[in-house]
Amino acid sequence: MYRTHTCGELRIEDKGRQVTLAGWVQKARKLGGMTFIDLRDRYGITQLVVEADAPAALVDTATSLGREYVIQASGEVVERSAKNAKMPTGDIEIRLTDITVLNKSAVPPFTIEEESDGGEDLRMKYRYLDLRRPPLQRALNLRHKVAHEVRNYLDAKGFMEIETPYLIKSTPEGARDFVVPSRMNPGQFYALPQSPQTFKQLLMVAGYDRYFQIVRCFRDEDLRADRQPEFTQIDCEMSFVEQEDVLGTFEGMMRQLFKNVLGVDIPNPLPRMSWYDAMDQYGSDKPDVRFGMTIHEITPLVKGRGFAVLDDAAYVGAICVPGAAEYTRKQVDELTEWVKRPQVGAKGLIYIRVNADGSFKSSIDKFYGADDLRAIADAAGAQPGDLILVLCGARRKTQTMLGVLRLEMGSRLGLRNPQEFAPLWIVDFPLLEWDEETQRFYAMHHPFTAPKPEHEQWFYSNAKEDLERVCANAYDFVLNGSELGGGSIRIHNADMQKRMFEVLGIGPEEAEYKFGFIINAFQFGAPPHGGLAFGFDRVCALMGGQDTIRDYIAFPKNNQGRDVMIDSPSEIDASQLEELQIKLDVKSE
Ligand code: ASP
Repeated sequence: MYRTHTCGELRIEDKGRQVTLAGWVQKARKLGGMTFIDLRDRYGITQLVVEADAPAALVDTATSLGREYVIQASGEVVERSAKNAKMPTGDIEIRLTDITVLNKSAVPPFTIEEESDGGEDLRMKYRYLDLRRPPLQRALNLRHKVAHEVRNYLDAKGFMEIETPYLIKSTPEGARDFVVPSRMNPGQFYALPQSPQTFKQLLMVAGYDRYFQIVRCFRDEDLRADRQPEFTQIDCEMSFVEQEDVLGTFEGMMRQLFKNVLGVDIPNPLPRMSWYDAMDQYGSDKPDVRFGMTIHEITPLVKGRGFAVLDDAAYVGAICVPGAAEYTRKQVDELTEWVKRPQVGAKGLIYIRVNADGSFKSSIDKFYGADDLRAIADAAGAQPGDLILVLCGARRKTQTMLGVLRLEMGSRLGLRNPQEFAPLWIVDFPLLEWDEETQRFYAMHHPFTAPKPEHEQWFYSNAKEDLERVCANAYDFVLNGSELGGGSIRIHNADMQKRMFEVLGIGPEEAEYKFGFIINAFQFGAPPHGGLAFGFDRVCALMGGQDTIRDYIAFPKNNQGRDVMIDSPSEIDASQLEELQIKLDVKSE
């Protein structure tokens, strides 16, 4: 046996025990004649001490230890004279009688402690060293616990975990596929799944009425901040269900996760908001409802005062920032520049300050009198001391900008506490989204999503306005401004599925080529079914109070989609290319 205990285990009750620990030397330091060693493993840190009067050989070994040496150390558990209340093992130390160096270590390129002095790139390159740090240990531990709870909950509810293949054909999520050449079928390629969507639906046809899988998904997208080309989903599907059944089952799962992993109670039942309300009030389909500051439409209140910008605007909306009337001119100017950045894209920003005495100061004083401004302030729910911010333009676009501004002001005012959890369902999504550029409809969720039964007559209409009003039986689970999951009740009828492809401008041949297998399957008794998938990495990150998923993945890629540790992607041998019958024609930039 290498060790009798881990480095996080021993307490004052163990005083007097003879123990052997094994782990990594975080630090060794000499103090007076004594040598102190912080020994670390994934369970914690224990202080070891070699007394001044210990045998010379032992003192020599102790003083020769470098950072990250792997050692085995034996001795007696003794009470510390200077206790450290911050460490679970801080009441004791081990008075050593023996040290064996199991392996030496090169000098690590950064400090491996709670906080590291290493930059992001360096830590990614030596990820296995970064993973020794407590914050990453906590993150992976949380991830493990969440996965365990998910399996417990779903197993108890009769779900079966079934694996689906990775080497498949394109799936319908609409991102770019990663492809893998087939040596045995020259000139042909597999696609890696963007999700197991079609397979889980086929499992429903096959009668496995409650399926789940914690599964890797692959999407070749430009990596906006905090996306990964491969990520993990908790993927689920159920048969003989309506929307209510799916929502009930999975809010139950989230409730159990929060309770058992974090000891946090989330509301029962969860609040729900329609997509339309989310857009109108929060300017986002994933609203952060930890704070108010909602959007108010003031279009009718601003017309006809001779201010062309607002007279011509299709939509004018306002948010009221509580207590921000003290914002100086300079701060408002800075905010104006902020909303003009391409990431937000506004042309300008109008402000109305409601002074403590109820009077107004605004950037539109020239056109609007006190009564006008009061009417706007009332509509925006403003009180003396508040600052009203106004944007105008096309309806949804302006609401989205106001939504971004709202989040920024929420952050600046400290209203977005990561330890506070405000989950909700967004429901009643539009089924289809019109794209001006390509002049066609796209599925807002994916092409297997069913229209709401009461909207079916519009679904079969050819009028654009009718199709635009069709709502889907689709839902998203949103937490603190992040979409953690989403799904829908599916189409299970071959004719309706064909109609969907038609609406999306996917011709019969293309539909047959891409999704013929599922249309086929639907002819053999497909049950009514629906499901959803949660972004597992993000669930973990949010539960951990972080907004980046990277630390919750053991070996993530960087923003260029590279694994800098193993240096991948990389070129392959000419012989491999030859076997695959592939000729490269790489254009240099
Ligand atoms: N496959 C969908 C997605 O990955 C989720 C679902 O509809 O179940 O977004």
